Amino acid sequence: MTSLPLLGARTLLAVAAIGIAWTSLLPPDDLPSSFGLSDKVIHLIGYMVLGILAVLSGIRWPWALGSVIAFGLLLEIAQGLLGYRSFEWADLGADALGALAGVIITDRIMREVRRSRGQEAQRRKREQRRQRRESARNPAPERMMNRERVAARKGAPTWKQVAQRQGGKCWLCGTRTYEEDRTREASGRERLGATYPCVDYVVAIDAGGTYEETNVRLAHRHCAAVRREKPSLTSFGRPPRTYS
Ligand SMILES: [Zn+2]
Repeated sequence: MTSLPLLGARTLLAVAAIGIAWTSLLPPDDLPSSFGLSDKVIHLIGYMVLGILAVLSGIRWPWALGSVIAFGLLLEIAQGLLGYRSFEWADLGADALGALAGVIITDRIMREVRRSRGQEAQRRKREQRRQRRESARNPAPERMMNRERVAARKGAPTWKQVAQRQGGKCWLCGTRTYEEDRTREASGRERLGATYPCVDYVVAIDAGGTYEETNVRLAHRHCAAVRREKPSLTSFGRPPRTYS
């Protein structure tokens, strides 16, 4: 599958080559206006365009340069054979000069573009590696502890503090919570289960509730989620234990 820009460059190259061949083989009287530009300048510009498009078409620069000059030579020979046009070394020189300029400049630019694209890809890869290292060093439970620490700074109690003061039972269903209801995945990430304890607020903090003892309760993660009408935690953990 050829990329669209490459296909576009190749199409333009073919169009340009046909156009140049066409005007090269016309009788001198039928030539389109050259807008006062000298014949040699026209040659220079035409072959510079060919050189640029050849490199953009994915042809490596020595081949691009060689084939564009060969194309010019072929057309000069054809002109010499036609009778009404003539073979001119000066024209061929202008062709070669134009082709050289177009090919070299475009090749330089393409190299620069490829280089900076490669650097950008490398930078992205480095960033991904850094993030992977970061999450390996700081697995999920610790990140959660960070969240708890942030909440604690605002005055939120941890579930352990609440359990110490109120006992380990869920205030919503009245059965005990299970600190051991957690699994470590192969990736090292820890997943908390439905019966793992959490802090629940009688009046939600978002709704103006406080962190005071009267507003704080211990609950199963599952029960608290159901109460908040959030999707049940069981959907990504194990089914809740049958409370007894
Ligand atoms: Zn419960």
